[in-house]
Amino acid sequence: MVQTAVEPEVSGEELRERMVRKRKAIDLMELSFAEDAARFAVTDEYDELGFVSAIDWIRFNCHMTSGAAADRVAVGKTMNRMPRSVEAVSQGEIGLAHVTVMARTAEALKDRFDERPLIDFARENSPGKFHFFCQHARHAADADGYAAEEADQVHERRLSLSTWIDGSMVLSGVLDAFGGAALRAALEPLAHRSGEHDRRQREQRLADALVELASGGAQRASLQVTTSVETLLGLAGAAAADMEFSLPISAKIVERLACDCNVTRVLLDSESSVIDVGRAKRVVSGPARRALNARDGSCRWPGCERPASWTAAHHVVHWVHGGTTDLDNLILLCFRHHWMVHEGKWQLVRSDGGRMLAIPPTVRFGRPARDGTDSTPEPPPERFDDEGVDTTVEVQDDAGYDSSS
Ligand SMILES: [Zn+2]
Ligand SMILES: [Zn+2]
Repeated sequence: MVQTAVEPEVSGEELRERMVRKRKAIDLMELSFAEDAARFAVTDEYDELGFVSAIDWIRFNCHMTSGAAADRVAVGKTMNRMPRSVEAVSQGEIGLAHVTVMARTAEALKDRFDERPLIDFARENSPGKFHFFCQHARHAADADGYAAEEADQVHERRLSLSTWIDGSMVLSGVLDAFGGAALRAALEPLAHRSGEHDRRQREQRLADALVELASGGAQRASLQVTTSVETLLGLAGAAAADMEFSLPISAKIVERLACDCNVTRVLLDSESSVIDVGRAKRVVSGPARRALNARDGSCRWPGCERPASWTAAHHVVHWVHGGTTDLDNLILLCFRHHWMVHEGKWQLVRSDGGRMLAIPPTVRFGRPARDGTDSTPEPPPERFDDEGVDTTVEVQDDAGYDSSS
C-alpha cells in the first residue's frame, strides 16, 4: 500500500534513514533491471512484437521515457566492464545516476575506458559533478573523438522561426553545447531583474534579452574559459577546458577562442592554490587590430564579405605554437569561417598572387597501413611551470569580436 501522509510518530532521523535505505534497494533493483534490459536488447523479440527497437518496447511496456530506457540498456551492456561501480552501488556508496554516467563514459571510450581513476570521484561527488569529471576524462583519453562529437553537434544546429497569424513568432531549435553556452553568456547579463518592481518571469526576461541583443543594444558578451597550458597545446592526456554554462569543451574550441581573446595567466602551486593572477592581456592589441581591419576590410575567406566587425583575428601560425601577432601572421575570418579553419579542418593558403585559397579537409578511407602497429609512443607531457608551479591560463573571449579594446 502506498501511504500518502507521513505517520506522525516517525522522527525526522528515522525518515531520512528510511529514504536512504529505500533508495539503495531501488538502485539495486535498477541494476538487476538493467541487466535484463541489456539481455532483451540483443534479441529481436521487440521486432516480432511490432516495436521499432528494444528501447521502444521498454519505454511503452515498462512506463518509462525513452531516455531512461536507453540509460538502463547502456548500464546493462557495460556492467561487466565496471565491477567496482556495481560493488559500490551494493554498498550504497554511489547510485544508479553515477553508474549511468560511468556506462556512457565506457561506451564513448571503448577500449580506453578504465573505471579505476573514476570510481573514487564518483563516491565523493554528486552525479552532476561526476558527469563533468567524466567529460574531462573523455577528453584526456580521446581528445580527437571529443572534438569530433562537438563538431557533429555543430552540424546538428537548427533554428526554426514560424510566424503566427497575429504576427508573433515561435522559435524552436537545438544548439551545440558551445553555441548554447555562448548564447546564454550573451543573454544572461541582459536578463537580470532590473529591480524589485521587475516581476517578469525568467522566460520573459530571456525573450526580452534576445530581442535586445538582436536589436544591437547589447553590451558585449564575455565568455570565460579556464584551461591548462597542456590543453591549449593539445597535448595527449590533457583534460578539457571549463566554460561557464557549458559542459567541458575540447582543446579544438579553445584553440579557436584563443586566436583572438583576452588572456589572463593564473599560476597555481602544487596544491592547486592560486598564487598569482596576471593582468588580462589582449592577444591582438587594439592598434594591431585596427591595422588589420584596414588591410583586410572583411573576412578573407574567398567569396565571403562579412564586415570586419563580425570577424576574429586568426593567427595563420597559432601563438600557442610560437606564431607572432605581426600583420603577416594575421587574417580576418568571420565566425563561420574561423570555425571551419579550426574545427572544420579546412586549410587557408596564400597563393602567389596573394589571393587566399580554401582547401577542404582531406577524405581518407581508413588508415594507411604502417609497419603492422600504430602504437606511436605518446610524447611525455611537457610542463610549463614557472619554477616548479603548475600553470593555468584563463582564456577570456568576448563573443562580440569587438576590435577596439
Ligand atoms: Zn584562428
Ligand atoms: Zn567568412
